Amino acid sequence: MSPPRFLVPQLPNSGPLDLDEAESRHACGVLRLQVGDAVEVFDGQGGEAQARIVQIQKRSVELNIDARTDANRELHWPLTLDIALPKGDRQKTLVEGLVQLGVTNLVPLHCQRGVAQPTGKAILRLERMVIEASKQCRRNHLMRIAPPIPLANLSQSTTEPTLRMFAHPYGTAATARQILDANASLPNPKNVEIAVGPEGGFTAAEVAELQDSGWLQFSLGPRILRIEMAAIAIASIHASLQPQ
Ligand code: SAM
Repeated sequence: MSPPRFLVPQLPNSGPLDLDEAESRHACGVLRLQVGDAVEVFDGQGGEAQARIVQIQKRSVELNIDARTDANRELHWPLTLDIALPKGDRQKTLVEGLVQLGVTNLVPLHCQRGVAQPTGKAILRLERMVIEASKQCRRNHLMRIAPPIPLANLSQSTTEPTLRMFAHPYGTAATARQILDANASLPNPKNVEIAVGPEGGFTAAEVAELQDSGWLQFSLGPRILRIEMAAIAIASIHASLQPQ
C-alpha cells in the first residue's frame, strides 16, 4: 500500500518542508500519523516525492524529503469535459470518477435546462474534491476546474487543434468509441473536448448551435445515463484508447 499523500504546491527537491494547516490537520487529526511515518507529497503540477514526518506541532507537520519520484500518470491525449453539472452529492461522484480516469480539464457548462450553476464557493468545493481524489488515486497533476461558461461561448471557441464532440442520445448512429477510435488512428491525435448536457438534455436550439459549429454528435447507447455516469463512461472510453 502506498503511503498517505499530501499536497504541497511549492515542492522543494530535498530538505525540510511544512504541510499547511489543512494538510497538517488531515495528517494528525484524521490519519493520526506519528513522527517517523513515511508519506508521499505532490505539488499538483507533476512533482512527487517520498518524505518522512520529522516533527509534529499544534498546527503544522514538518517533513523531510527523502527522494523525488515525479511519476507521470497523465493521459497521453488530454481530455476536456464541458459538463452541465449535476446537483449535490452527485458532483462528488462525478469529480472522483473523472480525476481517477485522468481527465485534464472540467469546464462547468451553463445550458438552458441546467440546474447547478456553480459560483466561487462551489468551485472551491470542487477543487477540494479534486485534491482529495488525486491523493487517493496517486495522480500528480490536479484536474483543472475552469471557470463556468455558457454553451454559446463553447460553440464559438476557435482554439485548435481539438476534436470536439457532444453526447446526445437522439438522432445519431455514431458512438463515442467510433469517433474516438477514428481520431486515435490519425498520425497526430488531437486534444479532445466533449460536452455533456444537463438532466433535461440539450435543447434543439443548443444541438443545432453545436452542430453548426462543427461539433460531432455521438450516442452512448439506447439507455439514458445520468450526467455523471455519461461523463465517466466517456472518460473511460477515452482512457481505454490511450497508448501505454
Ligand atoms: N432527458 C434528457 C434527454 O432527453 O436528453 C436526458 C439527459 S441525460 C440525463 C444528461 C446528459 O447525459 C445528456 O444531455 C447527454 O449529454 C448525456 N447522455 C446520457 N445518456 C446518453 C446517451 N445514451 N447517449 C448520449 N448521451 C447521453
